Amino acid sequence: MKVLLVDDSPVNQMYTATLLEQINVQCQTAETGLHALELLLNDKELEFGLVLMDSQMPVMDGIRATKLIRRGYGGKGHKTIPVFALSGGGREEHRQECLDAGMNGYLEKPVTADQLQRILASF
Ligand SMILES: [Mg+2]
Repeated sequence: MKVLLVDDSPVNQMYTATLLEQINVQCQTAETGLHALELLLNDKELEFGLVLMDSQMPVMDGIRATKLIRRGYGGKGHKTIPVFALSGGGREEHRQECLDAGMNGYLEKPVTADQLQRILASF
């Protein structure tokens, strides 16, 4: 099982990818929601089992991308893939916005290896 890590910040990408490596989880990165949709759509073998989605990104943010995944734009097989928001925090309404978009949960940055392990274990 691979994790799709979507974040426009190279530093954040590297940070989260390193945590995943520490807990022996493979990941692939994407910089925008649009890139994430492309990767999901091309994942015919359904190797991706979970998406970690930055909520704020240029081109297409995590909220829009998640809505499109739920409508099947990331492929039929990925319509219900677990999506967790990686959020910079801030407004409380933002959390609700992420959940309303169809995300399964919400994590505030910086995430920890423990948090990631718990989420992965639950799927
Ligand atoms: Mg961002």
